[in-house]
Amino acid sequence: MSTADPGRTLRNSVLVVGAGPAGLSAALALRAAGMPATVLDRRVQGTVRPGSRAAYLHGASLRALEQLRPGLGQEIADHGVMWATKRSYWAGREIYTRTYPPLQRDGLPPFTSLPQVRTEDLMAAACRDRGVLFHWGVEVTSAESSPDGVRLVDSAGAAWEADYVIAADGSRSALRSAIRSRLEGPRSRNTFVVVDLDDNPAQPMPLERVFHYKHPRVDGRNVLLVPFAGGWRVDLNLLLNDAAEKFTSPEGLRDWIPRVMPESYSERVRWVSTYRFAQQLADRFTDDHSRVLLTGEAAHLFAPFGARGMNSSIPDAIRAVHAVCEALSAASPEAAAAEIRRFEAERKEAAQYNRSCAGAALEHMLAHRPSVWLRRRAAAAVAVAGSKAGAWLDSAPYGPKLAARGTAKSSY
Ligand SMILES: Cc1cc2nc3c(=O)[nH]c(=O)nc-3n(C[C@H](O)[C@H](O)[C@H](O)COP(=O)(O)OP(=O)(O)OC[C@H]3O[C@@H](n4cnc5c(N)ncnc54)[C@H](O)[C@@H]3O)c2cc1C
Repeated sequence: MSTADPGRTLRNSVLVVGAGPAGLSAALALRAAGMPATVLDRRVQGTVRPGSRAAYLHGASLRALEQLRPGLGQEIADHGVMWATKRSYWAGREIYTRTYPPLQRDGLPPFTSLPQVRTEDLMAAACRDRGVLFHWGVEVTSAESSPDGVRLVDSAGAAWEADYVIAADGSRSALRSAIRSRLEGPRSRNTFVVVDLDDNPAQPMPLERVFHYKHPRVDGRNVLLVPFAGGWRVDLNLLLNDAAEKFTSPEGLRDWIPRVMPESYSERVRWVSTYRFAQQLADRFTDDHSRVLLTGEAAHLFAPFGARGMNSSIPDAIRAVHAVCEALSAASPEAAAAEIRRFEAERKEAAQYNRSCAGAALEHMLAHRPSVWLRRRAAAAVAVAGSKAGAWLDSAPYGPKLAARGTAKSSY
């Protein structure tokens, strides 16, 4: 699709900015509600964003996508992989293993693991199928809201008008800045090196999720190995004084990857990224006129342990579309604004909960607090395969499993 001509203003009832998981979910939700859906994204069509991103999709997300577009959840699950075995080690000693029996029932699995780019491709194809209109190469640079709607301007000077804008423009959201919402919250002091490696069919690895506390072959750093369709994600938890370049340079990778994976994998590196994980929420999820709704990473950033980023962007987007549909048919401007503020209150509460779960996981990984450090050590001293202590050490790096109010899965 071509971008709008500069100087020409296009009016929409709803515009979605950003074609990541949040924006694509919003577009599908709009179409499912019988509304037209238009998405603006600054990327040139078909370009792949560099770096590692999400892989792990919860069953709740698959079910939500299946509802938006029958067949989509199943299709994503069919492309992804599941592992039946999870394993943990403490300083090289195995402390936990569990292998689940094969799934007996038909239908959507409890999770799937697929690179985010491939999940997005499947979602975008479903959007096209549903008649979603994409405008690629459109970078929104400013937004102004009023009691009547929102006016966006893009980098080419074109204006776009809408009654409501669903902001899904990611962690550096221009829309978040435009509505003067600020991110609040800490960032991890430690750096994490995240490496995506392509599978080596000549030297296949068992399909298992493996976590190493204090891996002895990398001088006691934590290492997480997670399979996804077509490859492996390796997270190396650097120590506070580590220089990241030592681990991310080609020589560095050739040195440490063979210590935690079969040697040939060090030649199969697809992406290497370093992160200090943010644990931040926007202080407001909508503007003064309740016309712009922040979703996904425009609204919150979480450490990835427990996989709450993309998995919570999907319900954010669905809830935003629901609020907008209610607002568009509300009896008065006050009632419309109240619908949007309800969205804000609900998704902010969910984001606070998700941040605290991801925070618990991060704290457990880093063990900076003496109480966590001691608890981990005490559990490791008694953990043997099958013990409760081992099960706790295996699961704690992902944070609490249950959601607030004990209803839905952890992504909510
Ligand atoms: C290493 C790593 C591992 C992760 N693992 C997981 C995981 O396993 N499970 C999970 O749930 N989450 C995970 N996450 C988080 C997940 O990647 C994000 O939560 C998710 O990408 C957020 O989706 P989004 O749509 O909000 O933003 P994004 O994916 O960032 O999409 C934003 C879109 O907006 C566009 N855009 C930006 N600015 C503009 C603009 N001004 N105008 C127009 N378009 C614009 C961008 O081009 C992009 O297409 C992980 C993250 C990292 C870094």
